[in-house]
Amino acid sequence: MYNYNQVSNPLIPAPSGADASRLRRRVRLLQARFHIPEDALPGSLALSHRRCGKPSCHCADGDGHPLWTLTFMAGGKKRVETIPADWVEAIRPRVEAGRHFKQATAELLLINAELLVLARNQRPRRSRHPASAPP
Ligand SMILES: [Zn+2]
Repeated sequence: MYNYNQVSNPLIPAPSGADASRLRRRVRLLQARFHIPEDALPGSLALSHRRCGKPSCHCADGDGHPLWTLTFMAGGKKRVETIPADWVEAIRPRVEAGRHFKQATAELLLINAELLVLARNQRPRRSRHPASAPP
């Protein structure tokens, strides 16, 4: 389980104002959903049809046999794994949970970047270019 704790850093003060408040409220909302569902799955489920190639099979004249697959990225490569048809309804909510978790984490990272930019913009001008800073 991943535990998200906002680290207070005296060097980077929390930004103030309506935008910052709105973003922080959103962060708290996302945090509430932030526990990784242990059985969450990546990628997406898809149904396709494949002909098995046996000339005597009924599929030779039709769409082919239904084939469920889970497609996901693993180590930068696309992976496609077949899923037994009778597992699909059990697996679907796990894929949904994985998608929601990814969306929530991506949004949280972007909000943290927005809060950082707000804090930088609210930084007092006199401290923006300390004499000791490198050029
Ligand atoms: Zn067939």
